[in-house]
Amino acid sequence: MSSPRSDSRLDVADLLDRPGASRRVDVELAVPDDLDLALAELPGHARLVGIVESVVGGLLVRGSLRAPLLLRCARCLAPVESDATSEVVELYADPGRATAEVEPGYVIHDALLDLGALLRDALVPAVPYRPLCRPDCRGLCATCGVDRNEASCACATTVVDPRWEALRGLRLSGEAE
Ligand SMILES: [Zn+2]
Ligand SMILES: [Zn+2]
Repeated sequence: MSSPRSDSRLDVADLLDRPGASRRVDVELAVPDDLDLALAELPGHARLVGIVESVVGGLLVRGSLRAPLLLRCARCLAPVESDATSEVVELYADPGRATAEVEPGYVIHDALLDLGALLRDALVPAVPYRPLCRPDCRGLCATCGVDRNEASCACATTVVDPRWEALRGLRLSGEAE
């Protein structure tokens, strides 16, 4: 079973200096609150299911990451619930024993792994760029704003994508001259 955490750190005292030792993990971790996502929120905890392995020079974290994701449809702005998922493989260096260059955010401190950087690096790319509430979402009318999934309007255009709408406006103003 997973155990909820109030932060994103993992106690690894039992694995340090024991190359070859490993431990399965199933933990809930607090998602960093500085992810800077435009139309998305990660409102809950991230769950990491995997294994932490003691290797020469540090610890290797492997597993699957999943976090609830709250998005806005790129066409109609309706809320969309989803999950951000990612497979992760990261080496955390033991600062006293690392043989290679140490990556900031992936260093063992006081027998703790702070998984904040891993959560950020894995979850941000897992957020879809243009989420849709459904594949055939008809979006909002660019003229009157009505939700075309729920109602029709008398506006002449059938163009849905606001980028095309902008081009159309340019051409019309050109023709008017
Ligand atoms: Zn939509
Ligand atoms: Zn309309």
